[in-house]
Amino acid sequence: MKHSVDLAARSHGPADTATIAAAVADLTVAGDVIVLGGDLGAGKTAFTKAFGAGLDVTDAITSPTFTLHQRYDSGRLVVHHLDVYRIEQIEETIDLALPELFESGGVVVLEWGDTIAPALPASYLMVQIEFGEGDDDRILNFIGIGTAWQARLARLGEALSEKNLTEQVTA
Ligand code: ADP
Ligand code: MG
Repeated sequence: MKHSVDLAARSHGPADTATIAAAVADLTVAGDVIVLGGDLGAGKTAFTKAFGAGLDVTDAITSPTFTLHQRYDSGRLVVHHLDVYRIEQIEETIDLALPELFESGGVVVLEWGDTIAPALPASYLMVQIEFGEGDDDRILNFIGIGTAWQARLARLGEALSEKNLTEQVTA
């Protein structure tokens, strides 16, 4: 199913992406699931590092490409950071015990989570990161799946537009 973009943010470099991720963290509550899509090098891990910092995670967040799952519990919410790039079949997600994680009361951030859509909960925030014109330009497309993020995306739009980080939604 193709979902329409609710909000698009424009990033001209890692610092902008960090500001955007921190604004998302400000709106995040226990039980939230955030799915990060976009090609290798788009900035999914960069987003997660700043998102974690925004939740006051003091540990250094590293890419979980080889470990698949990292748990950080030094912040105001427990953050589970997963990267499912290496998952080739949906059956392989069983080992990750995703339903238990989604119910754990922590926050789950899933890099490449869009590739395992059938294993995702009914409600989550999708962030699709696209490359822009310059090397450091990115567009972050936000899509609220289900109901959990609809009202908060309006608030995120206000927060980002105050910082001149919003982009006209064309899709
Ligand atoms: P992914 O996890 O999507 O594969 P990473 O976050 O590991 O990507 O890497 C993104 C790379 O792109 C980093 O080296 C980062 O410094 C660089 N980069 C350049 N511009 C941006 C930007 N606007 N937002 C995020 N990262 C950027
Ligand atoms: Mg990554």
